Amino acid sequence: MNIHEYQAKQIFRDYGVTVPEGRAVFSVDEAVEAAEELGGSLWVVKAQIHAGGRGKAGGVKLAKSLDEVRQHADEILGATLVTHQTGPQGQKVRRLYIEQGVDIDRELYLGLVVDRAEDTIALMASTEGGVDIETVAAETPEKILQINVDPLTGLTDFQARQIAFGLGLEGKAVFKAVGFMKGLYKAFVETDASTAEINPLVVTSEGELIALDAKMNFDDNALFRHPELEELRDESEEDPAELQAKEHGLSYVNLDGNIGCMVNGAGLAMGTMDIIKHYGGEPANFLDVGGGADAETVAEAFKIITGDERVKVIFINIFGGIMKCDVIANGVIAAVDEVGLEVPLVVRLAGTNVDEGKRILQESTFDIVSADSMSDGAKKAIEQLEA
Ligand code: ADP
Ligand code: MG
Repeated sequence: MNIHEYQAKQIFRDYGVTVPEGRAVFSVDEAVEAAEELGGSLWVVKAQIHAGGRGKAGGVKLAKSLDEVRQHADEILGATLVTHQTGPQGQKVRRLYIEQGVDIDRELYLGLVVDRAEDTIALMASTEGGVDIETVAAETPEKILQINVDPLTGLTDFQARQIAFGLGLEGKAVFKAVGFMKGLYKAFVETDASTAEINPLVVTSEGELIALDAKMNFDDNALFRHPELEELRDESEEDPAELQAKEHGLSYVNLDGNIGCMVNGAGLAMGTMDIIKHYGGEPANFLDVGGGADAETVAEAFKIITGDERVKVIFINIFGGIMKCDVIANGVIAAVDEVGLEVPLVVRLAGTNVDEGKRILQESTFDIVSADSMSDGAKKAIEQLEA
């Protein structure tokens, strides 16, 4: 689960990682009030969306007067920002963060991610902050410092100092940086985060260290331990199809292709995507209706797939183990009956009562292409696209 910058900054504050003062707001008037309350003479108006790269897209603007705060808030609120992380459709701005402006001397990068291959938490830092870190990693990998932290020992002072020196920090800034890294590490572990990122981490003209941006992502499988984090969920930022699927207990992930897949069991779903790719197709989604899916679940899943206008063919690949194939076939027919069928449908059934299931599909009035195996189904789905 993703959260907004201002929410991540509150978590940072709780763990002693310094951030500027700020207020989250939902209207232009509130934005001006917040700036008045914060005081000072420099503010930043920041779009709150679950995507980075806002600055370049016009979603982060400096204001030198309350009038400018009003102007920028008016411009950004309600606008649709397109960044390298939103996809081409962009993301609408529904809330803003009004923050004190900071006098920046240097912009650095600091981030934590789970390193699955090494069974550790990787701490990464760079002198190239404030820019897209993936670009830095691709073009100048030598500018990324990395240490792997053993979760049993935690981040040690010497490791943190090593990074601080690597960033070219000196004097008291070294000790501040060590405190930052340890605070961020503690926040990461205690919230079951999967990423925590500060980009940029700035050194001010007074030599202070401040986190100007904050990004945190949490492991969905650990959210049951964190009701306080679950409250931060902003559904307006999430994929509506994924939300709908979740409501019906389906595991659904939107992908970029055009072959809509309905499969039961995560392993079979992965296998189905693999075989589609193997024959040169592109799955539009991962959809696991679950091992014990009934006719109703099949119908819900079908609605989600047909609601995606990029889907040009549907491939149903179901193993009738707990559920018998004839019951599934009836579920598919009921679903098609309810939502209609505008694209070709390829169905592969295997398992208990498979012959009965196939007979039901063949005898239906709908034009359903029957497949005998996974590879046959994948090939037929791709053929339908080309037809
Ligand atoms: P994003 O990463 O989505 O573009 P950031 O929060 O990193 O958004 O902001 C983009 C840039 O705006 C930063 O790299 C920094 O230069 C500037 N900036 C952000 N917040 C402040 C602030 N409080 N004071 C001064 N400059 C800021
Ligand atoms: Mg940033």
